[in-house]
Amino acid sequence: MNAPLEPTSAPTRDAAQAALLAALAGIVPDHCLLWKQEDTIPYECDGLAAYRQVPLAVVLPENEAQVCQILAACHALGVPIVPRGAGPSLSGGAMPIGNGLVLSLARFKKIIKVDPLSRTAIVQPGVRNLAISEAAAPHGLYYAPDPSSQIACTIGGNVSENSGGVHCLKYGLTVHNVLRVRAVTMQGEVVEFGSEAPDAPGLDLLAALIGSEGMLAVVTEITVRLVPKPQLAQVIMASFNDVEAGGNAVAAVIAAGIIPAGLEMMDKPATAAVEEFVKAGYDLEAEAILLCESDGTPEEVAEEIERMSEVLRGCGATRIQVSQSEAERLRFWSGRKNAFPAAGRISADYYCMDGTIPRKHIGTLLRRIQEMEAKYRLRCINVFHAGDGNMHPLILFNGADQDEWHRAELFGADILETCVELGGTVTGEHGVGVEKLNSACVQFSPQELEMFFRVKAAFDPAKLLNPDKAIPTLARCAEYGKLHVRNGLLPHPDLPRF
Ligand SMILES: Cc1cc2nc3c(=O)[nH]c(=O)nc-3n(C[C@H](O)[C@H](O)[C@H](O)COP(=O)(O)OP(=O)(O)OC[C@H]3O[C@@H](n4cnc5c(N)ncnc54)[C@H](O)[C@@H]3O)c2cc1C
Repeated sequence: MNAPLEPTSAPTRDAAQAALLAALAGIVPDHCLLWKQEDTIPYECDGLAAYRQVPLAVVLPENEAQVCQILAACHALGVPIVPRGAGPSLSGGAMPIGNGLVLSLARFKKIIKVDPLSRTAIVQPGVRNLAISEAAAPHGLYYAPDPSSQIACTIGGNVSENSGGVHCLKYGLTVHNVLRVRAVTMQGEVVEFGSEAPDAPGLDLLAALIGSEGMLAVVTEITVRLVPKPQLAQVIMASFNDVEAGGNAVAAVIAAGIIPAGLEMMDKPATAAVEEFVKAGYDLEAEAILLCESDGTPEEVAEEIERMSEVLRGCGATRIQVSQSEAERLRFWSGRKNAFPAAGRISADYYCMDGTIPRKHIGTLLRRIQEMEAKYRLRCINVFHAGDGNMHPLILFNGADQDEWHRAELFGADILETCVELGGTVTGEHGVGVEKLNSACVQFSPQELEMFFRVKAAFDPAKLLNPDKAIPTLARCAEYGKLHVRNGLLPHPDLPRF
């Protein structure tokens, strides 16, 4: 007699999908619900396309009341939820879960209010980052954090990733520019974090929410701080014939007591890739270029440009060019802002890393990356927020070749773990997502990871909101062989290790 057939997963998935659709049909109109494979496949990944998963369904609610009901319904059904903005996350944070629902905030596109008096704007989470500055421009104001993806990425995702950008060195990250967030918990309850006043009563849970990668609550409204547009901005393009010298110049500028409005670095392979694409006017002979921006009144800018030029020359800059018009300044920046797409012109795929190190170690890390290129037999181009020590090595590989992808992953992990060794962190602004779970084991002790899980459980005890992202389990760390050993005592000897 034949052995009974193992039940296939298809009916289970179909049944789970049917139950979910039945629950959601009573909450949102038909046009807000996608469930056919051809409709859900476009959501199968985010900007980290190497990891993919098709969800049971995608829901695009139109108002906060629907968000509350969707979350409560999924909570009752035990269906996991992945919140999603525009999807350019580079860490797999917005990647769906196979037995889960994608909750897209794409219809939350309203700029509710721009208030020039309090220099704030109240916006919905699906508003694009750049659209906030565009709406504030008539009042001479703008929203300072400017991720390179700002034409596409949404402020809800920026809040969840604590996004940074070129101007964050002087003006702060998302966490420094958001005053209040309204959000919905997995149980469907609306909660407000922070306030429009300079401070809010109670624990500072706003800071806990910002950067929580969609794991604590679904953001539905945000009050952001706006800053006045400076009278003038100019950028220096400084060339170096040695990457380490360029890296050391970054630390020297800050050590001289200058906080530039932007301080970015690109190595020679990066400028070569970009120049062909954007025609930014970069020095293609230099081993590295630094872009250092100054903003303020014309007098302040003139003085700061002079001081920065002096420091850069002292650090071995071989050529210094200062933008002479707004058009030239934007052209210099357009090269930096288009560096990731430019990488796509010279390689079938690229893997963007996002580690942070103390500025004084930039030169050391760049040298170590050069050694890794030989070790993993892959090219890497470097472009980064140098002033913040936030590195974005782009590892070039061919995704059709599994061995190349495997080597790219090992190369990436090596870079991130070197960042930790140099006193830095495994992520600066792109989040841990699914991508850096192993590397996070190297960063955090079991005690710290247990604390993170407790914070998560305080908001979402059922572990349904973007689960299995951002915080590695102790079992994963044991398997990765990177569970911290303190005082010679192996923590959790009960966990299986391979
Ligand atoms: C070319 C390129 C350049 C980039 N440059 C930068 C850069 O300079 N700086 C930088 O910081 N990042 C950069 N990124 C990464 C990315 O753009 C940011 O992480 C951005 O914040 C993601 O925005 P999003 O709204 O589209 O979020 P998604 O990618 O959709 O989601 C990102 C995370 O936020 C969560 N999330 C989204 N919306 C909500 C919500 N309403 N409530 C709760 N959770 C939510 C998701 O679950 C996910 O975990 C770049 C990406 C690309 C492709």
